[in-house]
Amino acid sequence: MNRRQFVLLSTLFSGISVVNNAAAQFNFGKALEAGQALLQSETLSDEQLKSYFDQMAADSDRRNRVAGNNDAYGKRLIKLTRGLESHDGLNLDYKVYLTPQVNAFAMANGTIRVYSGLMDKFSDDEIRYVIGHEIGHVKSGHTKARIQTAMRTSALKSAVAATGGKAAELAESQLGELFEQVVTAQHSQANEREADDYALGFMKTRRYPPIACVTALEKLDSLSGGADASWLSTHPSPKERAARLKTQV
Ligand SMILES: [Zn+2]
Repeated sequence: MNRRQFVLLSTLFSGISVVNNAAAQFNFGKALEAGQALLQSETLSDEQLKSYFDQMAADSDRRNRVAGNNDAYGKRLIKLTRGLESHDGLNLDYKVYLTPQVNAFAMANGTIRVYSGLMDKFSDDEIRYVIGHEIGHVKSGHTKARIQTAMRTSALKSAVAATGGKAAELAESQLGELFEQVVTAQHSQANEREADDYALGFMKTRRYPPIACVTALEKLDSLSGGADASWLSTHPSPKERAARLKTQV
C-alpha cells in the first residue's frame, strides 16, 4: 500500500465521509468496500438496529424452549414483572427459556429473556435485580455499542453494505454470530458497575428491596464453583460487585 492509499484508508476508518471522493480517484476493491461498510454501520439508524434485534430475538426464541403462559415459570415471570411492562422509555417483552442454565439477557429492542435455571435459584426480588441490571446494559448503550461493533468487524458488514439504508434479512448463521458478539460476549468491569448502579436505582424507584442486588450477587458467587451459571461468563466478579453494592444499599 502506498502512502496516498494509506492516508485515504486511515481517513475512511476515522469515519470521515470521503467515500465518493475516494471512489472517483481510486479503486481499492476490498479496502474501499470495508470502509463503506464501516461508514454505514456507524450510521445505522435506530430503526435498522431495532430490526436486527428483532431478528436476533426471534432466532433465539426458535433455538430455545420458551415457557408458555400456563407454565409455572411463565406464570411466575408474568406475576413478578407486573407493572414492569415498560421502564425508562423501553417497552419490555419478557419470556422464560426452559433450561437449567443460570442466565438472563436483554436487548435494545426491549427483549428480556430469563432462564428457568436462574428462576430456580433466585427470589422474585433477586430476579428483578437481574432484570434491572440487564435493562441497565441497554440504557447505558452497551448493547447498542456492541451491535455496531459487530456490524463492522464481522462478516455481517457485507450484509449491511449490500442493502444500503435498509435493514438486511440476516441468515440464521449471521444471527447466531451476532448473538455471540452482542449477547454472549463478556462485559467489561466498568460496564458491570454501570449496569449495577442502574439496577440499584431501578430497585429503589420501583420500591423493590435494594438488598436483593447484594443477595443475588452473593448467590451467584457461591454458584460459581458448581452450577452452570452462564451469567457469570458474561458478568464477572460477583463477589466484588456484591461488596460494592452493599455499601450503597
Ligand atoms: Zn452485566
